[in-house]
Amino acid sequence: MARFIFITGGVVSSLGKGLMAASLAALLQARGYKVRIRKFDPYLNVDPGTMSPYQHGEVYVTDDGAETDLDLGHYERFTGVAARQSDNITTGRIYRDIITKERRGDYLGATVQVIPHVTNEIKAFARAEVDDLDFLICEIGGTVGDIESLPFIEAIRQLRNDLGRTQTVSIHTTLIPYIAAAGELKTKPTQHSVRDLTSLGIQPDLLLCRVDRPLPDSDRAKIAQFCNVRKEAVIPALDAKSIYSVPLQYHREGLDAEVLRAFGIEDAPEPDISRWDDILDRLFNPQGEVTIGVVGKYVGLPDAYKSLTEALVHGGLANRVKVNIKWLDAELFEEADVPSHLEPMHGILVPGGFGERGSEGKIASVQFARERKVPFFGICLGMQMACIEGARNTAGLRGASTTEFGDTEEPVVGLITEWMGKEGLEKRAANGDLGGTMRLGAYEATLDGNSHVAAIYGGTRISERHRHRYEVNAHYKGALEAGGLIFSGMSPDGTLPEIVERPDHPWFVGVQFHPELKSKPFDPHPLFASFIEAAVKQSRLV
Ligand code: GLN
Repeated sequence: MARFIFITGGVVSSLGKGLMAASLAALLQARGYKVRIRKFDPYLNVDPGTMSPYQHGEVYVTDDGAETDLDLGHYERFTGVAARQSDNITTGRIYRDIITKERRGDYLGATVQVIPHVTNEIKAFARAEVDDLDFLICEIGGTVGDIESLPFIEAIRQLRNDLGRTQTVSIHTTLIPYIAAAGELKTKPTQHSVRDLTSLGIQPDLLLCRVDRPLPDSDRAKIAQFCNVRKEAVIPALDAKSIYSVPLQYHREGLDAEVLRAFGIEDAPEPDISRWDDILDRLFNPQGEVTIGVVGKYVGLPDAYKSLTEALVHGGLANRVKVNIKWLDAELFEEADVPSHLEPMHGILVPGGFGERGSEGKIASVQFARERKVPFFGICLGMQMACIEGARNTAGLRGASTTEFGDTEEPVVGLITEWMGKEGLEKRAANGDLGGTMRLGAYEATLDGNSHVAAIYGGTRISERHRHRYEVNAHYKGALEAGGLIFSGMSPDGTLPEIVERPDHPWFVGVQFHPELKSKPFDPHPLFASFIEAAVKQSRLV
């Protein structure tokens, strides 16, 4: 039976619980265990799909089409285990399901309450599909003491009782601030946070304490004494040079060993950390560097492009180069002198996005990349912009645009009204709901055997994740191809354009899907590896 590890947060938010969960999973995996991670989000949205990236960072899409929290991206990047819909639950989803059941009369006249009905749903979610696992790590969003997270904490308390103490371990993450005026680290917030947690019935087994300098032994002993944990179970979590340093750093501090000890597991195999050693060697000993200009909308908030940033780093790992990312605001670009900003770039990437704002700046960067033969990578909206640019400037369709931005005489990009979904034909109307109405998740595409992308992938059948409402209009294929923009990847039924490329350009690829979601540090995505390779070549030219 799977063992459960619960990770709660205290003192402040943004302690990096998601990375901690992912790093612990990676360490347990390195010891040969089968691990999965789940995220419990206490907000009332059914999923983060309708939330602004400004508020919540990127929406991470799974193969099975779930729009989930960006922490699931960390989980997948660190473990290689593909996340699923059943790995992310929100309060909103739980309430929606309960109210649907209540309306159907499933509760047979009972009064429906937070305890037991909401807590039972949370427990059922945690316990579903865990039979083949050694460990399930559950990360609880928010901070202990929040009103929203109370039902989750209560569900964990009950689960610890239901499953027995040998089956569950609780890790609480806290902050130990340094007070400059006193010249001291302060343990009091940690003590208070643990007191809050114990008052809700959960005694943590381990404390993972974020701290910006080495934690003196005396402080460690003090925390142990006040918080009822072994001194070795107070794990200092110092800031890391890279997120990929975190697993080995925690390993050195004894995190995985203490977790196993808390479960009473004495015969655990030693971890094989060679995979992480190799990543760090490539990361910290690069043999060159390239600069990639990312022309987007949410450039002030790197979390909005989390997976993209990581995939570019992975492309660098594949080529043993450091990748500098220059975030360029597409909107400012509409006024600015485009060449002066883009000339220093070794590659230009237009990422996914929604809405018209900044689009002319994105189109101008596509034009620059095409004319100057700078490696260009367009992702989702970026591919659509590449098609509009091609239509306007190489196919003579001056009025080309997308219906996403309003009526247009040449809808080179338009609303997808029907496509073959997992359960047959899916249909959409222009005035439908915004939430959950996109073409989401993994779909296959067929590549032209002679294309650049087929050479990059090393095959002609691929599966990639999607999240879009609009598509390039296949009726314009002839006109765009005559202008040099070739449709080199299509949905298997031949209706939806998935990839475009320019054979007369050193590296010009637009994809309708999000390859960044599947890239991993130990398995960089081929498109990112190849794009960075092209940028390295470009860097030798300029
Ligand atoms: N807004 C575009 C669409 O819905 C692109 C979406 C995206 O980039 N993820 O098709």
